Amino acid sequence: MDQFLVDRGELQVAGMPLRLLAARVGSTPFYAYSRQLLQARVAQLRAALPAAVKLHYAMKANPMPAVVGFMAGLVDGIDVASAGELAVALDAGADPAEISFAGPGKRDPELVQAVAAGVLVNVESMRELPVLARASQALGLPARVAVRVNPDFELKGSGMKMGGGPKQFGVDVELVPELLAFAAREGLAFEGFHLYAGSQNLKAESICEAQAKSYELALRLAEHAPSPVQFLNLGGGFGIPYFPGEQALDLAPIGANLQAICERATRELPQAHIVIELGRYLVGEAGVYVARITDRKVSRGQVYLVTDGGLHHHLSASGNFGQVVRKNYPVTLSPGLAGRALGVELESASVVGPLCTPLDLLADRMELPVAQEGDFAVVFQSGAYGASASPQRFLGHPVCTEVLV
Ligand SMILES: *Cc1c(COP(=O)(O)O)cnc(C)c1O
Repeated sequence: MDQFLVDRGELQVAGMPLRLLAARVGSTPFYAYSRQLLQARVAQLRAALPAAVKLHYAMKANPMPAVVGFMAGLVDGIDVASAGELAVALDAGADPAEISFAGPGKRDPELVQAVAAGVLVNVESMRELPVLARASQALGLPARVAVRVNPDFELKGSGMKMGGGPKQFGVDVELVPELLAFAAREGLAFEGFHLYAGSQNLKAESICEAQAKSYELALRLAEHAPSPVQFLNLGGGFGIPYFPGEQALDLAPIGANLQAICERATRELPQAHIVIELGRYLVGEAGVYVARITDRKVSRGQVYLVTDGGLHHHLSASGNFGQVVRKNYPVTLSPGLAGRALGVELESASVVGPLCTPLDLLADRMELPVAQEGDFAVVFQSGAYGASASPQRFLGHPVCTEVLV
């Protein structure tokens, strides 16, 4: 992929030939994430979006502690979805005032931990309110809350829809006035609204439409709020291209749309900070997954490059993480530690893992240079929903390593 250079047939990661990095890591398979690419991505967003928009990192996309620590220094806040993630974010040095905690089914101890840490809780159910109120009283600290709203519209063309219609996420918009009244009675510290319509979207137009509708909805709901809106999270959903024919998201119209929203907010919700929360878009393109070819098999004319990595580390590249139709992630090969160059001609080869299931497929009949045992197979676009989103214990193979370089 364009983010990573190839020098004389060898992939470079953070200025290092892959062989050198692999020797440094010491074992395969591994994920490598590039600081330089993470930084460049945040800079690109800052340049395209209004300065007033706060940028949050949704750390479920990549919760590696070193990545969270690095991102905490670049963005304006961290979004967590469990007390486990909250602990990582706090350890990483994220400012609790700028951490928000969303997710259905928050357990009572998680809510107590959130109040004790002083983070903002995005409330997704009536039942969270009395638990938060009790924690607030017991600890003598305010329970900072925003309401996660399940809107009455969807983010069109999303890989995953997380709002609109019946959903386990958020509180249905029609119930929000009642919830706000309850929150006020319980003495909770209301701060604003959180709207999240969907994920992995490559259509700027759909994202703009969802943001505009989210703003309108928040404006209507603000009339029922016990205090001025200070926090307005308009969601994210920015996608990255994975498959042939997909185009990178055009940020220019999104920047213009957010600029218009910010200008209105200055008049209509003067105390509100506009927030967008991104996971995959911030980290997805900054990472590669590297496995070593352990066998080259030919079965009835079809070449199989068997590797030491597979779906147990990279479920999404195998096509089993929410995809409807399996397509190949971008994959390349790079010379192994023996230093022998890859063959010049291309052949059709499938890259598979060691698991005893046909689902363990990293590349299905791709045109690749002729490779041998010891060479590396590399999956691009692997910085998000990789190691932590994969069933590492399935079949008892070794877990993978992660490095930030
Ligand atoms: C998963 C999630 C995100 C991040 O989604 P990406 O597609 O990685 O950007 C952001 N916000 C919420 C509420 C989420 O659940």
